[in-house]
Formats: sequence, C-alpha cells, structure tokens
Amino acid sequence: MTEPTISQLQPMPDDWQRALAVVAHPDDLEYGCSAAIACWTDAGREVAYVLATRGEAGIDTLDPERCGPLREREQRASARVVGVSEVEFLDHRDGTIEYGPALRRDIAAAIRRHRPELVITLNHRDTWGGTHWNTPDHVAVGRATLDAAGDAGNRWIFPELTEQGLEPWDGVRWVAVAGSQTPTHAVDAADGMERAVRSLLEHRAYIEALTDEDPETYVRGFLIPFARETGKRFGDGDRPAVAFEVFPR
Ligand SMILES: [Zn+2]
Repeated sequence: MTEPTISQLQPMPDDWQRALAVVAHPDDLEYGCSAAIACWTDAGREVAYVLATRGEAGIDTLDPERCGPLREREQRASARVVGVSEVEFLDHRDGTIEYGPALRRDIAAAIRRHRPELVITLNHRDTWGGTHWNTPDHVAVGRATLDAAGDAGNRWIFPELTEQGLEPWDGVRWVAVAGSQTPTHAVDAADGMERAVRSLLEHRAYIEALTDEDPETYVRGFLIPFARETGKRFGDGDRPAVAFEVFPR
C-alpha cells in the first residue's frame, strides 16, 4: 500500500526587507508564527506588529480595564524576544471586532506607515480545519488585512489617509496567512524555536489562566510538535518549519 502523497510546501519568498504582521490579539503570532519571525530578524529584516485589540477580553478572571494593559505589556515583551520592537495597537474592541471599512482603513494606514513588502496575518477562514470554529475577530482581521494590502495602494479608497500625510503604498507583494489549513509555503524555523517558546511564555498571565499545566511544558508541547509536523512537508523534512498560505499581489 502506498502512503498518501503529502504535498510539499514551497520556500517562502526571500527577496524582501520589511514585514508587517497584523493580527487580532496578543498571543496570535506567538501560537505558531514567531519562530519564523525570530529567523527573519536574525537575518536583519525589519518586522513590526500591529494588533487590532489589546486582548482585554481574554482572561475570564480579570476585568478588561486591568487585563488590557497587562496583555499589552506581555505582548511587547513577547515581541522583544524575537527581535521586534515596534508593536502598535489599533484599539478595536476585543471579541467584537467588526469587519468593514473602519477596520480596513486602520490596517491600510498601518501598511502605509510601515511600507512592508510582506504582510502577515492569521487564519481568516471560518474554521481551523474540520469543525474547530475560528473566532470572529480572527476572521475579521484576517480578511481586512488581505483587503487592506490593496487599499493601502489606492489613493482614492481612503482619501483621509492621504490628507493625514500617509501616502499610498503599493509595495505589498505578498500577504502570508499563518495558521491556514491550506498552506502553500514554509520557512525553516529551527533556529527560532527556542525563542518562540520564550516568546509565547511571555504571555504568562494568559497561559496561567488557560491551563493548570506547567507553562513551559504546555508551551513546548504545543509549539514543537506542530513545527516538526509542518517541517515534514518542507525541505528535507527533519527540521521544524512554519507554514503560510501565500497570496501574491
Ligand atoms: Zn486570537
């Protein structure tokens, strides 16, 4: 009996200098993507983060007024671990982010400020595969980011941005969706794995509220097998990798 063919992932585009990652919540990038970011910043590339919310509705035992600033601090520390110093928050409301022109405009503005060639976001589809339902915030931000990559280059869609001095940026060449169930590309993340672990561990208050397990055991148990599994579909198959579904522009 022959094994089913596992399609091989292509190498991520390499000819870029600036990336902007746009996600809904603190920890969205750390659950699987930050090993790639560590490798990219090691190579001298610039990566900035934009978060639609401060994740203030993320911890059941903590009210949003206290939770938001705490999670913002955790996110900034987490970004620093993988060489990212610019972290911005768009102040949409956690849990009820609305897909629409306001969100697209805020993300287009961020793209114009940072002028990235590569934009990264998180799974914008209804599920994580099978019947595991995605959250409306991820769907809204992922979709709006895919849209905003085009909006950022069009002078007439959000003319108020140009009036604010944000000139159109038509230089986004790819939007790469992390956490996609139908990835097309991957990047070797072996050298970033330890920092990815430490980076997710910076979300300590969140993780401690989430699980009774020892935080480091939980984080390693989540990140490492996943990256190894992805790596089987990439390169020689024995190094951890991070996969993306790449939408060229
Ligand atoms: Zn999230």
